[in-house]
Amino acid sequence: MLQASGDGAQVRDELTGDLHTIRAKVVVNATGVWAGDLVPEVRLRPSRGTHLVVRSASLGAGNAVVNAAIPDTMGRFVFTLPQPDGLTYLGLTDEPVEGHPDDVPEPGNHDIDFLLDTINSVLEHDLQRSDVVGMYAGLRPLIDADGSSADLSRRHAVLTSSEGVVTIVGGKLTTYRRMAQDTVDHIVRDHDLTAGPCVTAELPLVGAADRANLRSVPAPARLVRRYGTEAPIVAAGMGPEMLAPIADTVPTTPAELHFAVTHEGALDVDDLLDRRTRIGLVPADRDRAVAAAQDVLTRLHRT
Ligand SMILES: Cc1cc2nc3c(=O)[nH]c(=O)nc-3n(C[C@H](O)[C@H](O)[C@H](O)COP(=O)(O)OP(=O)(O)OC[C@H]3O[C@@H](n4cnc5c(N)ncnc54)[C@H](O)[C@@H]3O)c2cc1C
Repeated sequence: MLQASGDGAQVRDELTGDLHTIRAKVVVNATGVWAGDLVPEVRLRPSRGTHLVVRSASLGAGNAVVNAAIPDTMGRFVFTLPQPDGLTYLGLTDEPVEGHPDDVPEPGNHDIDFLLDTINSVLEHDLQRSDVVGMYAGLRPLIDADGSSADLSRRHAVLTSSEGVVTIVGGKLTTYRRMAQDTVDHIVRDHDLTAGPCVTAELPLVGAADRANLRSVPAPARLVRRYGTEAPIVAAGMGPEMLAPIADTVPTTPAELHFAVTHEGALDVDDLLDRRTRIGLVPADRDRAVAAAQDVLTRLHRT
């Protein structure tokens, strides 16, 4: 989206470069830490959060979560997050970012040293830099309520600008449904629209079921864990080679990449390895998976 106003938006198709004008009763600006680019009245103070990625085996803690208190702080920790695919994430930092936020924030050397030093304070065998197989950073969209860093809100807010653009910003990943509900309720109220009560809180996620039902889903266990009751659709028509891990360190199967194209809108290798799966978090694993991603795109005539 290039420009937003109370009655429409100007957008650019990033694949073709074509510009379009869209007319709408309401425009919602849900662009996270970049929300101020479209609505300058929105004031944010981004904070960079960096995670390191290590092989779980190098940490030696199995599936246990390890917490290390950050010295000279109250209630702040560096912690490990074991993942199902043999990786553990180690995070995270909270560094104020000045100026316009980068499109893709990069972890700094200071972040890496801080995370390793803090977690090593509670480990018997120190993690080394060479144990770090990947890393990533993101920007938290913290709301600057009164211009002072002491009052940065980690809750979300819905705001209507003087131009009439509705911005939803702040919050957490885990509060996305509440953020959507508050946005829709805000619009319905402000525009005197008629609508029933919001039902998002009652709607199960696609593929969700209780454990007993999940146990009887006829599909490989890995796919049931990732896709729930949708797993048979992922596995349908897939031969053994499509259901085998892509590489020793990459348990993702080509069937998952295939599904990402047919059902999840993936268009290219980057979508498959960096957006629909998290293979790209470890550059060496990404290299191992590029051929499988290209193969799937070729089979589906997407290249
Ligand atoms: C390192 C880190 C760790 C976190 N950990 C957690 C956690 O454990 N639990 C939790 O609940 N939350 C966590 N959060 C917070 C959570 O990630 C954010 O609150 C959440 O992503 C905000 O969602 P959003 O949709 O508002 O913004 P975003 O997720 O940033 O999405 C905004 C989207 O808008 C797009 N965009 C930007 N500008 C434009 C434009 N002009 N036109 C079109 N599109 C545009 C961007 O590309 C992006 O895809 C974490 C955040 C960080 C940075």
